Amino acid sequence: MKCSNLGYPRIGENREWKKTLETFWAGKLTEEEFYEQTTQLRLHHLQKQKEKGIDIIPVNDFTFYDHMLDMAVMFGLVPKRFSYSGGRVPLSTYFAMARGEQNAVACEMTKWFNTNYHYIVPELDDVTPHLTENKPLTAYKEAKEKLGIKSKPVLIGPYTFVKLSKGYEKKDLAQTILSFLPLYEQIVKELQKEGVEWVQIDEPALVTACTKSEKELLFSIFERLHTAAPQLNIMLQTYFDSIVPESDWLNLPVQGIGLDFVHGVEQNLTQLHISGFPEDKVLAVGLIDGRNVWRTTLSKKWELIEELLQIVEADRIWLQPSCSLLHVPVSAQKESHLAYEIRSALAFADEKLDEIVLLSKRHTLGAEATKKEFTEHEEAQQLLLHSPTRARTKVHEAVQSIQEDHIGRHSSFNERKEIQQKTWDLPLLPTTTIGSFPQSAEVRQARQKFRKFEWSEKQYEEYIEDKIKEWINIQEDIGLDVLVHGEFERTDMVEFFGEKLGGFVFTKYGWVQSYGSRCVRPPIVYADVEFLEPMTVKESVFAKSLTQKPVKGMLTGPVTILNWSFIRDDISRKQVAYQIALALQQEVKALEDAGINMIQVDEPALREGLPLKKADWNEYLSWAVTAFRLTTSSVADSTQIHTHMCYCEFHDFIHVISELDADVISIETSRSHGELIAAFEQNIYDKGIGLGVYDIHSPRIPEVDEMSKMIQRALDVLNPSQFWINPDCGLKTRGVDETIPSLKNMVVATQAVRQQL
Ligand code: GLN
Ligand code: ZN
Repeated sequence: MKCSNLGYPRIGENREWKKTLETFWAGKLTEEEFYEQTTQLRLHHLQKQKEKGIDIIPVNDFTFYDHMLDMAVMFGLVPKRFSYSGGRVPLSTYFAMARGEQNAVACEMTKWFNTNYHYIVPELDDVTPHLTENKPLTAYKEAKEKLGIKSKPVLIGPYTFVKLSKGYEKKDLAQTILSFLPLYEQIVKELQKEGVEWVQIDEPALVTACTKSEKELLFSIFERLHTAAPQLNIMLQTYFDSIVPESDWLNLPVQGIGLDFVHGVEQNLTQLHISGFPEDKVLAVGLIDGRNVWRTTLSKKWELIEELLQIVEADRIWLQPSCSLLHVPVSAQKESHLAYEIRSALAFADEKLDEIVLLSKRHTLGAEATKKEFTEHEEAQQLLLHSPTRARTKVHEAVQSIQEDHIGRHSSFNERKEIQQKTWDLPLLPTTTIGSFPQSAEVRQARQKFRKFEWSEKQYEEYIEDKIKEWINIQEDIGLDVLVHGEFERTDMVEFFGEKLGGFVFTKYGWVQSYGSRCVRPPIVYADVEFLEPMTVKESVFAKSLTQKPVKGMLTGPVTILNWSFIRDDISRKQVAYQIALALQQEVKALEDAGINMIQVDEPALREGLPLKKADWNEYLSWAVTAFRLTTSSVADSTQIHTHMCYCEFHDFIHVISELDADVISIETSRSHGELIAAFEQNIYDKGIGLGVYDIHSPRIPEVDEMSKMIQRALDVLNPSQFWINPDCGLKTRGVDETIPSLKNMVVATQAVRQQL
């Protein structure tokens, strides 16, 4: 039974990788120094895995930015705007594709399946693929020459690569994939020539959905790869969900199949019991959760192994994480500030590899030889599980007594609408913003000073109040109808609430890569979530005291907090969502009691949390919507609930938005305005809606004219009494000099349209 890994975090224990990248971008490292530092880091990671006892160590999982970008560059897919003239793609071009440059916008970035990692989307449109280098081969040679490791090169398979690229939709999928096949053939041939034993070809897209013709195509692809390099073993790796219902995958002409035995374990297991596992293949068992931060229950995993041993002999089994360890922090060793029972229940990448090795030892050396380690491990886990801080009876009782079918506002939307119209007396096409205003360096420095105790709490609060005052004045000058306080006190929309709710902890070094050099440190929900005290009331009330105009209270919704945190694994996601929702419900009440009667509950991550298989959507959406309603629906009819969601495809999603039963929703859509409006033509959405009228991601200041055209177009399908005018997302990342003139133009555009109504 071999120990294997699918991918190791790139960022380093102390985010060395990020520092190297950013210093290089800042022009403070030569290219040579950059290569030198990244090579050291890469080799260190390999060495570490070797020392831990991992037999099959992945290479080419390391990257200077993103693994999909690496693939695109390897295939010479450099869009024309980057003026590349062939040959090996220079480092500067590579980074230009990722980050943009003076005359060329960056390639798009999007979510990697259902994770919070974002990859660079390859563009297939205007270039013919050709091999610029064999990166997996280079990585293999390096590990062998420098460390004597005979590694397993990893690359994204042709099916997933093309499916995640941009531009294939316009072409024939099969033709497009086939145009890449000679390149893949060359790669595997060269790997075989070098004496590589195993290559891992990742095809996570196989867990989503696949048509019959795509299935046939996949068989022929792998047949061709096998023919090209018959001595090379291919491990076809899937992850993030089960391969069911497409069980045929087991018969693909490859030498090994990697399955996720964490997400989709039941389906995968049932499938293996029914169909057995082909005798000529290795089964790579992804049994340690690569998506959470907790120690696993070893005894349960051992039971799983015993079950699998009835189907496959031990020498055809690899034990490994469920997916690349890219999605978890590097090492839990340094989190010494956390309570003992929490700290010792954590397992990040390094600790997860230890668990794999321990399970394999249990097999080779027997129960007695590993008893001590097993016991220690399980004791640490039990300690947290039974810790009095974890279970809060009141929270459990509250969740138990939720009657899902009875959660809703007191009156229907139409009744509320009338009452709210009287209460608020807003003009047609009310103008507002999404919540945050520019978080300048000065705002961030103020927070640092407070955190480092250079400033007293009072000093910091006064600073925040000054900012609120400044921006209430600015908003009044601009002439906006509904104001916000600006969110200056918040670093991050999830962290801010996590720090104030019971049941969350924060790591010091628990960074994971979000995109490029940007890393995030997701909060960890380790216990029942509980409302402790009002979190946002003070700032909202202060803002409201400064103006006659309505001020929206501003919260992050339960589903977004859930999806952007690491959560405990002893209760369901749904239960955690309900706990958060109940806590936020108290915040909503506190706001209402304090006279804040317009409250926005942001859910930008609601759609992100959708399961990979469409068949599982309804279940998720049903509790996600319930969680939102739990948070928001106990308010008075006159209280206006707003929500906001970021860019996403909404065509198949409007019924869900409607079920949220928010009085007003704002959606980040300025980039696909037309499409969205078309969607509204077909679906009846009767509630208030703000379709973002300009793209806040771009530094340019939108013209009055283009915004009034956008508004006009929306009014073709939406009732004017329904429509709100706002930018398409929060303005936190924009400069003041862009924000003020843009909002001014937005208000002028609105006034112009109003006059024509
Ligand atoms: N209210 C938040 C803000 O304005 C919303 C952020 C988001 O949609 N991601 O920053
Ligand atoms: Zn947004």
